[in-house]
Order: sequence, then structure tokens, then C-alpha cells
Amino acid sequence: MNMITNHLPTAELQKLDAAHHMHPFTDANGLAEKGARVITRGEGVWLTDSEGHRIIDGMAGLWCVNIGYGRKELAQAAAKQMEELAYYNTFFQTTHVPAIALAAKLAEIAPGDLNHVFFAGSGSEANDTNIRLVRRYWQVKGQPERRVIIARWNGYHGSTMGGGSLGGMKPIHSHGGRIDGIEHIGQPYWWAEGGDMTEDEFGLMRARELEAKIEELGADKVAAFIGEPIQGAGGVIVPPRTYWPEIQRICDKYGILLISDEVITGFGRTGNWFGSQTFGIRPHIMTIAKGLSSGYAPIGGSIICDEVAAVVAEGGEFFHGYTYSGHPVSCAVALENLRIIQEEGVVEHVRDVANPHLAKLWKGLEDHPLVGEAKLVGLMGSIALTPDKATRARFASEEGTVGFRCRERCFANDLIMRHVGDRMIIAPPLVITPEEIDTLVARARKSLDECHAGLKADGLLVAKKD
Ligand SMILES: *Cc1c(COP(=O)(O)O)cnc(C)c1O
Repeated sequence: MNMITNHLPTAELQKLDAAHHMHPFTDANGLAEKGARVITRGEGVWLTDSEGHRIIDGMAGLWCVNIGYGRKELAQAAAKQMEELAYYNTFFQTTHVPAIALAAKLAEIAPGDLNHVFFAGSGSEANDTNIRLVRRYWQVKGQPERRVIIARWNGYHGSTMGGGSLGGMKPIHSHGGRIDGIEHIGQPYWWAEGGDMTEDEFGLMRARELEAKIEELGADKVAAFIGEPIQGAGGVIVPPRTYWPEIQRICDKYGILLISDEVITGFGRTGNWFGSQTFGIRPHIMTIAKGLSSGYAPIGGSIICDEVAAVVAEGGEFFHGYTYSGHPVSCAVALENLRIIQEEGVVEHVRDVANPHLAKLWKGLEDHPLVGEAKLVGLMGSIALTPDKATRARFASEEGTVGFRCRERCFANDLIMRHVGDRMIIAPPLVITPEEIDTLVARARKSLDECHAGLKADGLLVAKKD
């Protein structure tokens, strides 16, 4: 058997990696100089690298390893499915048991009348499906000019042309452009953009930008609104509580389809099965991926309500699909993952054990001199770093300088915590225990202390003047 082994020295692996492997979202020259960290094993919330460090994974990989690493049941489900039927497609009136079983299971778990699943290979692909699906829906309804989708600046919906265009990240738009028919409104990010408003006032103000945008474009041109219940890649931006009810009201008023991108917030992350339930959102479509398989196999999809599915069906064939839509191995792995989440009470563990335990410690970080707000919903947390909490000041240094330095200290302390600009974010595996949470927070605090000392020494604890 051709086994992939870790027999090469780390420096050799890093050299080969830099020479032949183009990494996503990475500065290739910077990487070649430093060498990437080589991760070799995972167990629960712990990773091991090629140097033997034991690292606590505060990000669950890329927000996806909800049940933790190393679960043999998923490996067995994949092996069994590969032996039985490694592949068959779901095009042209064929199907197979894993896709049927997973679609039925998702319909059971999803709230309301979200009863129909279109499978994709990833979250980006699923959002590309959503663009085509909502436009097709209005076409069949006899309103083909309704094709604009409204999204938010600093939202993240993937990195394909469609997903990247729905997202509101200018650096992504600047590499390759974006597709037409997508408009962006402001994000509900009170800490950085709320000025003198209360959080509640600001939440309403930002939601009403949706209404203003619809009026500007004409309601008869707008197909849908898409948003993440909590912005993940944008920095774990928790919206004010006034935000989503107002968005819902506006979508209802103008008859606009509402897409909740649950790629991160789905499958227990917020202490409910879906972020929509945590925020009282009633979407027509939910985007899913990541935690659907806990990252053990690539899979994504859209869960679609009865009415939208019926209208699209009325239109006859929908000319859309991926070779790997409903891949049997990915479906089998996802099913086993959902079984574990359900039978082991993982969502209840987040809600009743892990969140309450972490919430106390996380909020406690607000007494640290570098930390402004500390936010946590379920097991999705962020802290805003600031040189002056009272004024919610930014640093004078280029945005992200301080966040990067803090992340470097976390790395050195065997904790994976990401930075988005000068915000630090976490989303650990949902199965994290209270003892592991204590370790995570202790390492985070140590890293913040070291970062703070370094900033002081380098004269960087300076607020930006507006
Ligand atoms: C990660 C992510 C995506 C994209 O998923 P991929 O599987 O990386 O294509 C889409 N939406 C949200 C909210 C995400 O966090």
C-alpha cells in the first residue's frame, strides 16, 4: 500500500511544500521564508505537529471539526461506503441510499418547512447554487427581472466567483472581480462602527439599510437577501439583538427571499442546531457545509423550503448540479456525524455545559488591558483588541498588525486562535470539556500578556487619531 508517512524531517517537508503546493489565502513568498507548520495528527480538540507540539485547536480546523478529531466511527462509515458503492451520481433520475438518508435526516433536523436538500461539495458551491436557485425561482414565477441579491460588506460566503461576489470582502473582489447583480449594505458591527449610538439603535439602523437599498433598486428587481446569523470570517461579529427581527420584517414586507448562510452557525455552533433558531430568523434557504460532516469529508448544500422547491419544480428541469452533488461517501460520513451529534447530545453540551463555562472566563478577559469587548454565542467567540477601551479606539499601526502579533504569541503557546484585523476569534470543537476550556483560556491570557508586553516595548500601544 502506498502510505503517506511523516518520515521526512520537517525542513524537507517545508521545502517541498513551498516548492510545489500553492496554499489558499497565503502569501507564498512569506510562507517560503518561514515554512508552514506541518500538522500530523488530531485527537479530540488536540493537534500534534511534526515537531511534537501538542496544540489546542481553538478554531476546530476552519470552524468545521464540530465533534473533534479522531472519531473512528466516521472513518469506518467512509470505508464501508467506499467498499459498497464508492460513487454514483444523482443526475438524470438516479439516486442512492446515502443521499436519500441524509436529505431525509436534514429535513427532520431543519426548522419549519425547510424540507428539501440540494447537495454541493462545499459552502461556496452551495452559495453558487443559491444564486442560480433564487433567480430561477423568480423566473418561474414570471418575474425574471427580480435577480439582484443583497448581501453585507464584510460578510463571507465563500471564494468561488459567486460566493466571493456575495461576500463583502474587498480584497477578494480585487482579485478577479465579481459577478453582476449583487449589492452590499453595511454590517451590524457596533464596536467598530456604532459611534455614539446604543447597540440597539445601531442594529436597527443597519437593518434599515436593507429597506433603503430595496427602495433604491425597486422591490421588483430584488430576488433575495443573504446573511450569516453571526459573521464568522469577518471577525465573529455578533449583531445587536434588534438587527435580525428588523431584517426579517423587511424581507417579509417586500416578499424577498431570505437566505441564512449557516455554514459556520449550523450543527450546534451557537447552542442550537442552527443559528437561525438562536436569532429567530425564518429563512427560505439555509446554506450548510463545514460542521455537516465535521470536516471529515467535503460536503455542502442548501436546505430549501417547500414553496421555493415547489416553484422550481414547476419550472421543469433545473439546469444545475455538480458531479459530486450528494457524493455517497460524504453523505455516509455526514450521516454518521449527525448521529453522533444527536446521540451524544453535542448541541445540549454546547448550550448547557461548554458555553456557560466558557462565557464566564471569556467575559473575564475584558479586565485585560488589551481587551475591549469579549463576545461569545455558543462556542463562537471574539475579542476586540484596543489601546483604549473607553473610546473603543483603534491602534495607530496598520489594522491587523496587533492582531497578527497576538496570533503569533498564541502559536508560540500552542493555541490556535485566529485574528481578523485586530480582533481575535475562536470556535473550538463543540465537544471541548470544561478542563480543556480552562487550558484554552489560560493560554489565551498568557498570549495576551506577552502581546501586551511586546507592544509596550515597541511603542505600539498608541491609539489612532481620527
Ligand atoms: C466557510 C464559509 C463558506 C464557504 O465554504 P467552503 O466550504 O470553504 O467553500 C461559506 N459561507 C460561510 C459563512 C463560511 O464560513
